[in-house]
Amino acid sequence: METRVRFAPSPTGPLHIGGVRTALICYLFAKKNKGIFILRIEDTDQNRYVEGSEAYIQNALEWTGMVPDEGPANGGDFGPYRQSERKNIYQEHIQELIAKGKAYYAFDDTETLAEARKNAEKKGNSFRYGAENRMQFNNSLTLTKAEIDARLKGDYVVRLKVDPGNIITVYDEIRGTIQQDSNLLDDKILLKADGMPTYHFANVVDDYLMKITTVIRGEEWLPSLPIHQLLYDAFDWTAPQFMHLPLILKPSGKGKLSKRDGDKEGFPVFPLNWGDVAKGFKENGFLAEGFINYLALLGWNSGTEQEVFSLKELETDFSVQGIQKGGARFDYEKAKWINHQHLSAMEATDIYHFDLIKKQLQGVDSSKHLSLLELLKERLFTLNDLAQEIEWIQEPQNYDEKIVQKLLSKGALEVMQGMLDILKEVSDLSDLKEALMPWAKKNGINTGVMMQSLRVALVGKLAGPDIFEICNLLGKDVTLERIALAISYFNSKT
Ligand code: GLU
Repeated sequence: METRVRFAPSPTGPLHIGGVRTALICYLFAKKNKGIFILRIEDTDQNRYVEGSEAYIQNALEWTGMVPDEGPANGGDFGPYRQSERKNIYQEHIQELIAKGKAYYAFDDTETLAEARKNAEKKGNSFRYGAENRMQFNNSLTLTKAEIDARLKGDYVVRLKVDPGNIITVYDEIRGTIQQDSNLLDDKILLKADGMPTYHFANVVDDYLMKITTVIRGEEWLPSLPIHQLLYDAFDWTAPQFMHLPLILKPSGKGKLSKRDGDKEGFPVFPLNWGDVAKGFKENGFLAEGFINYLALLGWNSGTEQEVFSLKELETDFSVQGIQKGGARFDYEKAKWINHQHLSAMEATDIYHFDLIKKQLQGVDSSKHLSLLELLKERLFTLNDLAQEIEWIQEPQNYDEKIVQKLLSKGALEVMQGMLDILKEVSDLSDLKEALMPWAKKNGINTGVMMQSLRVALVGKLAGPDIFEICNLLGKDVTLERIALAISYFNSKT
């Protein structure tokens, strides 16, 4: 049987990284099994619908390289792939359940239900519309045929008729067997007063009709599983395989990672920007591969030491056994480290393609762009780090005062003067190192002080890439100029 896995987000705003992680596991499971990855938009809740979210979801999947084989954008044999376009299908199926006596119409108004809820809560019980009390309400189990027909002209819902006294057993590939006492379930609404199906109903009908073999989703849906099982049973359908993924937890403390955590600590929790409201990993300088690689590690491990994977490698190395049961703690520093691994392994010419990179190189002599990237790529954690890494290429320089004082006390002025004289004589900058070393040795100059003085003169601080590479990039004239400038600055501090 062909493996068919669907990612079924609701278009209620930008897709949180938890959603992208679900999409990733769906995608990897499909690819690993040479199956089909499907995007289904679950847009039956009109109150929560947010314009633009479907396009956002599509763009996020395309950015990460997880392009659906079937979905609203590229079609397929099991469409429509938007639930709002499948109303007729749900109507047909709801009729089937009603005819079988597995579901029933309910006509209770909100006041009646609110009253019943209040009464139950007064007695310290939580209200449940189900086997115990359904015969006290206005529904197709209690009304006459004529009354039902009359009421069907107005507002109504359709409820699942949950049989009491059963233990419902479901199996999750990650969590194992789960049992649920049917007495604790209410008669879930399947079709709402607006004619739209609820999540449970649409989800099960579509998974069946779309021939989904494996349902992969977040752990928050685990409590729905027994209800879904009842629906499969009601239709006499075989349920697919289920996998509920562990939560993504806050960087510290209890609970799920939220947008608020990101806002507070300055990291994104969405793949792409969502207007000015939410920051994206992409715009924060992540490579799609770095982002995806990190997400894969949130709740999964390969069973080896390997942590850096391309999407292609993940497609082959992924296995369900590697998925953990417990929540996975989000760690932005780790995400950046993974991104850094991918960036350092890239060719400078490929890094140069990114608009984020080009923007930061504006104003820098274009003949130096590639050499700069070559020199600095191993220092980048995100694409946005380039600007601070190339500060030194532009004048004016700021000198780190503490270092200036320290170097002054170690004779940096004389050392810089000596270096200036040597540099003037050097015709090829790549010979500079070879010229400086014997000079330092001969004159008893501490090479540490020499290198640090040169670095501070050129860069202003002690950090940065190889100093002789920096000389090369700046060229002889600029290097001379900067040493001369540093000498006068150091002089002014004596
Ligand atoms: N529409 C649900 C969501 O937004 C999908 C849950 C499922 O995959 O069954 O997460």
